[in-house]
Order: sequence, then structure tokens, then C-alpha cells
Amino acid sequence: MTPPDEAHPNAFAQQARDALQDEVLTGALRRATDLFGERRRAAIATVPDWQELREHARKVKAHTLAQLDHYLERFAANATAAGATVHWARDGDEACAIVTRIAAERSASRLVKSKSMATEEIGLNEALAARAREPVETDLGEWIIQLAGETPSHIIVPAIHKTRQQIGRLFVDKLGIPPTDDPDALAAAARTRLRAHFAAADLGISGVNFGVAETGTILILENEGNARMTTTLPKTHVAVMGIEKVIPRFDDLEVFLRLLPRSGTGQHLTTYQSLLTGTDPGGEGPDELHIVLLDNGRAKIAVDRVMRETLACIRCGACLNACPVYQSVGGHAYGSVYPGPIGAILTPQLQGLEQAAALPFASTLCGACKDVCPVAIDIPSLLLELRRRAVDGTPGQRPVRLRRSERIAFGLWSWFARGPRRFRFAARLARIAQRVPLLSRLLPPLSAWTRTRELPTAEGRAFRDRRRGGNR
Ligand code: SF4
Repeated sequence: MTPPDEAHPNAFAQQARDALQDEVLTGALRRATDLFGERRRAAIATVPDWQELREHARKVKAHTLAQLDHYLERFAANATAAGATVHWARDGDEACAIVTRIAAERSASRLVKSKSMATEEIGLNEALAARAREPVETDLGEWIIQLAGETPSHIIVPAIHKTRQQIGRLFVDKLGIPPTDDPDALAAAARTRLRAHFAAADLGISGVNFGVAETGTILILENEGNARMTTTLPKTHVAVMGIEKVIPRFDDLEVFLRLLPRSGTGQHLTTYQSLLTGTDPGGEGPDELHIVLLDNGRAKIAVDRVMRETLACIRCGACLNACPVYQSVGGHAYGSVYPGPIGAILTPQLQGLEQAAALPFASTLCGACKDVCPVAIDIPSLLLELRRRAVDGTPGQRPVRLRRSERIAFGLWSWFARGPRRFRFAARLARIAQRVPLLSRLLPPLSAWTRTRELPTAEGRAFRDRRRGGNR
């Protein structure tokens, strides 16, 4: 089924078409997603109990999400006892207001930030910039995106859509360096600039990969050391944590640390793992740690027994790399900070199905996302459920209208599928029709599919005839 564009405010179809015309973009995407896919396969081949690990992680997440309020309260109490200040934010506006107030009360004007999808989701940079406190992104990919005035197109590789030649031109333009596309020279230029920002920063903002209820600890994973500097050099550290990031016990981290880096970047472990429990008065690190617990629609998903599984996501990005749609169109086509298969199920629930109704349809339902997901989220089933809700409507949400051609096609399909004689008749018609290739080129919605592909021709006898007459 294709997204019913005229009824959907989301512009996925047009943005996807535009992306497909961009050969530089599609080439960069293909190379990067292939590379991450290969690295992932090599990394998980070293773990004989991979499937057991996935199952274990799935159970931990399911258990936690079923008692989210309990574990969040426990996390907040233990983080507070360790010296952190915990804030609760119902939505993005509240979270932005909390961070802005913390910065204003400390007269902090030089802010640095490490990579965080939750802060992208709530538009924190824009909110702080409106009060002359825009943070400098310190993850290399995020910094490139910030310099380019763009949004990330991948949840762990924000600049995946950019070639090194494009980044070289950007640095010449924005930093005034001599022209180069040498990755080492580009990284060195970035390092010099970012170090100056770290040295001067009075407030650091980060995301959180996991929050441990048992100890109030937060864990931040990264490869560049920028998150560690962001969370230790400035006097104040503010961590924005989606409420679904909580896990019950410290020991649970072991399983997620084995799954996440292997699934995301194909590493056995990320270069840095920062475990932060409260503050250490008089010791090293910041004087204050503020943890902003962000709901922004998550609590509503947690009480939906069918869709709750969405919140098990540990943001590894593997489903993006494996998805044939994402591989072809990249992240910006989704019009959301969460692209790919996880974005197609998460965004409509966070923003409302009416706002992003096209996204659950932006999938071939091939199942590659489910196969690679380290917490075994059944993304195809959740996509189907969201499609059903989009078409049937839900309380407070009008049903989206399918294209007329789709309504006719599915109406016919439904009529033919209601009895064996009708079905046989339809199969006979289809076999005749496939001898006239022009039909599939002219008849919508098939014509949209055959615009860029050949319709395969069914070979030999139908399965029903072979079964009845023997497999000769
Ligand atoms: S849905 Fe699964 S594969 Fe996709 S980002 Fe989340 S954890 Fe990774």
C-alpha cells in the first residue's frame, strides 16, 4: 500500500521522490548503510548467544515498560540521593523551559552539547538560541550538521548523507580552512575549534543511553570523547533523558552494552562509556548534575499494550541501515528527527497519527528491521497496526482517506478474496492480464510500482492446480 498523499499532511512521498533524484545522496547512503551492515554482521558473529541476548534484552525492556512509573520513581529517588537534581517534563516545551531556566539562573552563556536525539526531538537548540544561548554541538557529525544548518538524517550517524567532499567545502566556507577533503585534516580542524569551546563552556548538555533505577546512574555511550568532556568540564551538566531509557538494575547494563554497539556501529564496545552517579562535591567533574526526565508522549505509548513495544528501542540505528526504503531516500525524507523503521512507528505516536500518517506506509514490510533489531521489536506488526488505526480512525483522530485508485483496488481484492470461486476467477484474470505488460504500466496503483521496476511474471502452473494435479 502506498501512502495516501492527498489525505496526509506529511510530505514523505514528495520528499522521497526528491531524494531519489539526488545521486550524490543515494550513493553516500548506499555506501554508509552497506558498511554499517557488514560491520554489524561481523560483530554479532563473535557472539554465539546473540539470539538469547536479544531475548533477554526484550524481556528486560518489556518488564520495565509494564512498570514504568515504579522504575522511574526509583531512578529519581536514587539519583537525588546521589546528589543529582531530577526534573520532570511533560512535553518538549516544559523540558526546554527547564534547561533554559537552569542556564539563565547560572548566567551560563557558553553551552556545549553532546549528541542527543531527545534534545533534537524537542528543539532544544532552537529554544536556547531564542534566548541567545545556543549550544555548540560537539559530536563531529552533529557539528557538521549544525554548521550546515541542517537536521540529522540518521540517529547515530547524523551526517551520513554527506560526502567528505561536501564536508570539505562546508569547512572552507564556514571555518576558512584551506580546501581539503582529507578526513584527518577535516577532523583536526574540527578538534581545534571544539577544544576552544570545551575550555570556555560553563554548561554542558547531554542525552542519556540508559538510566539505572537501582543506583540513579546514567550511562552515556560515545566514540569521540566529546560527551565525556561535555559532562565533566563545565560546572553544570544537564542530561535530558526520555523516560523509556530507564532499566531496573546495574547488572542489566551488561546485556545492553553487548547489544547496542555491535548493532549500531559494529563495534564490540564504544570507545567511551561514561557512568555518572550524582555529583562529587569537591572532587572532579561538575558541581551540579540536573536530569530532565522527558515524557513528551511516551507515557501515552507506555499504557498502550499493543504499541508499548515501541519504547523498547535503544536507538542503535540498525533498522535504518537494513531498511531498503531508508537506504534509498535517507532520513530527511521522513520529515522527523526519527527516520527509518523506528521513526515510522515512533513519530506518528509522538506527534499524533494525523500529523505523520504517511510514515507507517513508508515501508515494504520486508521484515529486515525486525531481524536486525537487538531488542527484537516487531516493527512490521506495529506498522500494520498503525496503518489500521490510520485508515479506521481512532478516538479523536479522523480516518485518513486512501487514494481513490487504492480504494477501488482494495475493494476489488476484498470482493475476490471472499470465496474460492471468486478467487479462482481473479487468479485467471490476473494471469491473462500479465500477458499485457501495458496494463501494469497504466493501471494505478500498480503503475506507481512499475514506474521504476519490472513486474515479475508468474511462471508455470498455479499452486492450486499443481496441488490438485500433482507436482508434475
Ligand atoms: S528499533 Fe531496534 S534496530 Fe531500530 S533503532 Fe531501535 S533498537 Fe535499533
